[in-house]
Amino acid sequence: MKIKKIECVQLQVPPFITPKSQKRRDAWVVDAEVANPMSRYPKYKRHRSSWLPKWGGVWVKVTAEDGTWGLGTTSAAPPVEAIINTHFAPMLEGEDCFAREKIWDMMFRMSKPYGTLGLSCLAMSGIDLALWDLAGRFFKKPVYSLLGGKVRDKVQAYATGNDVDWYVELGFKAVKLACPYGPADGLWGLDENEKFVAKARETVGDNIEIMLDCYMAFDVEYTIRLAERLKPYKLKWIEECLIPEDIDGWVTIRNAVNWVALATGEHNYTRYPFMQYINRRCLDILQPDINWVGGLSECVKIANMAEPASMATILHGGANQAYGQHFSCAITNVPMIEFFVGSPPGIQLEETISIPGAVVPKDGYLTPSDAPGFGYEIKDEWIISHKN
Ligand SMILES: [Mg+2]
Repeated sequence: MKIKKIECVQLQVPPFITPKSQKRRDAWVVDAEVANPMSRYPKYKRHRSSWLPKWGGVWVKVTAEDGTWGLGTTSAAPPVEAIINTHFAPMLEGEDCFAREKIWDMMFRMSKPYGTLGLSCLAMSGIDLALWDLAGRFFKKPVYSLLGGKVRDKVQAYATGNDVDWYVELGFKAVKLACPYGPADGLWGLDENEKFVAKARETVGDNIEIMLDCYMAFDVEYTIRLAERLKPYKLKWIEECLIPEDIDGWVTIRNAVNWVALATGEHNYTRYPFMQYINRRCLDILQPDINWVGGLSECVKIANMAEPASMATILHGGANQAYGQHFSCAITNVPMIEFFVGSPPGIQLEETISIPGAVVPKDGYLTPSDAPGFGYEIKDEWIISHKN
């Protein structure tokens, strides 16, 4: 069956949840400083939001000849829409809607003259996810079934954010902190980072895993120094210490640090850089983002390459949308799934759902929907075409 149309759309879902729980305090995201690649510039240091683009997300709808449609989603709406509307969509309409490998490879090759990694890869992810959703809806099967079925009924979820007391109360057995300071803060920042992790360890006790996310803020020297400082707090892993281009840097860190697992990958695109991490055995955990790296098709390949190298694949933000949830219960080397918590302590996670059919972790575990496709129950009238 052929693809009739590929278009960028917006979703307008009417409110369907009546909140009952009460906020106890603001969420950590409201005011936390997070070390980042722009921290070296004082004007932009305090808040990541002062320099990140305000592009918003975009949904990609692929419609087949018989009217069956599927939806994918990604970030960076304006440039992604330009790539899809003016290049990918006209080239791919008329192709077989089930030929995901061919379509992925066409997008990969068509984007060569202007660059595949980055924005093109976001566009590719949106289309790939929409094609999987379409196939699931057509065959009336959940996407995890199309991947061969479940390896596990539920996936252990970890909570990302700094409101760790609340995450433990919700039943999470693993939490990930956003590191506040980096090289720009010198020795003072090193001390403060240690105090920050020590406080979290004191709050959650010894039976909860703690991880530390460093959002591309460090260099090799700082990473090794901080890892040494944090040894007593028994972190499960440290994450994304370097900018994504510095794959060799991880080799140096790996040679110096063997008491904590190393993880990165959310800002790497396609399986190519992941193959380098795997060949160099410089990480323990690969963290592709299913909405950015090239979609579900590419995540499966990355996980399959990682498994014989004894590496786990734990998707960036995988539990926040249905896409990562289906991947994470159907692939073997996926021990955990990330759930980013931006909602305030006190508000039950079920009340933060914005699309009917979406699921959130319960008691620290995530069970994906069994409904067809990725399981979102979206009505046609909620899908708003952009330009007509
Ligand atoms: Mg991260």
